[in-house]
Amino acid sequence: MTSYQPNARGYYGSFGGAYIPEMLHRNIEELQANYLKIINSEAFQKEFASLLADYVGRPTPLFLARNLSEKYKARIYLKREDLCHTGAHKLNNVVGQVLLAQRLGKRHIIAETGAGQHGVATATVCALMGLRCTVFMGAKDIQRQQPNVLRMKMLGADVIAANSGSQTLKDATNEAIRYWINHPDETHYVIGSTIGPHPYPDMVARFQSVISYEIREQLLAKEGCESPNYVIACVGGGSNAAGAFYHFLSDSRVKLIGAEAAGEGIETGKTAATLTIGSEGIIHGCRTLLMQTPDGQIEEAHSVSAGLDYPGVGPLHAFLCRSQRARYYPITDAEALNAAFELSRTEGIIPALESAHALALLPKIGFEPDDIVVVNLSGRGDKDLETYRGHFLREFTCL
Ligand SMILES: *Cc1c(COP(=O)(O)O)cnc(C)c1O
Repeated sequence: MTSYQPNARGYYGSFGGAYIPEMLHRNIEELQANYLKIINSEAFQKEFASLLADYVGRPTPLFLARNLSEKYKARIYLKREDLCHTGAHKLNNVVGQVLLAQRLGKRHIIAETGAGQHGVATATVCALMGLRCTVFMGAKDIQRQQPNVLRMKMLGADVIAANSGSQTLKDATNEAIRYWINHPDETHYVIGSTIGPHPYPDMVARFQSVISYEIREQLLAKEGCESPNYVIACVGGGSNAAGAFYHFLSDSRVKLIGAEAAGEGIETGKTAATLTIGSEGIIHGCRTLLMQTPDGQIEEAHSVSAGLDYPGVGPLHAFLCRSQRARYYPITDAEALNAAFELSRTEGIIPALESAHALALLPKIGFEPDDIVVVNLSGRGDKDLETYRGHFLREFTCL
């Protein structure tokens, strides 16, 4: 039987591990030595569950989407992570990591952010817990994402511009790591997805696993059976998909399907379809699949959706892909935009562009009429209205 838990050194098969500079050993070893003990303690579980319930707003509903079900001839449920506080699943992980950081005696939380969603989630929980929060963000992203920069500042966070390189996410990551190396005692670095060196991928998957835990209970109540035929989720770094798959990994009756961002198309070079075209290498501290040139330079990713615009993928998904436990399909920008409009008009729910990639798989799979299908609706679309407006102007010329 295959284990879907990483081994003691953080490997899922040949993917994972901790590839870090000497200077980070102290911080990472502290986390590796303590995370399971703390997370599994009764006191932690109690406080985590209480905040998930009353602050994040869990359990999120499992909604039977009747109009979509009729259209695609299956019983299609939406797991409503879009209804979480701050608008996406990201808060589940941040609440968990901040509680862990407190128990390690850390008073200062740092994070990096690209589009600002993870930065806002981190600033939110730090405000709640009374912790100092510093968010590193590329100078170019600060210009492009003003509403989220304002949110973070309103919540009391310091937003530090990364002025090196391309002035985007990877430069913000470099600045955050540099800061962490220089302030190891009082600082915890909150990573926003199932990526990075061990133990981050496993730790984040555990915090997000509440999604599939609830799906099982909700399906049991609604359908009399806790296993669906399909679970479908979008994959950037892979945290919402890891959470939606987690409690079904060893249940081979459940087909696990991921949607990754093809951008303008996998042959165009403007893509983020790592699992489709990537090869093995090391990115941000772990061994995984990534988009790279033949001589190992990491290639720039492209997707209309900022949350999926990443040239790597979490090591759990690299393993699930290689072992064929899960299947991953590339979805283009145009397919995702159309799926976002379809959900808005059939069910009255405006999804995040990331989540729309998962919805775009519905017409491609070919369900049996009795199939129970759960789509993880990772976030809501308020943040994407400008992109939707541009698409609408091109397609319908009347908005
Ligand atoms: C950040 C984000 C994602 C992508 O991140 P994962 O770690 O792959 O889940 C997906 N959906 C939404 C709404 C996001 O904000």
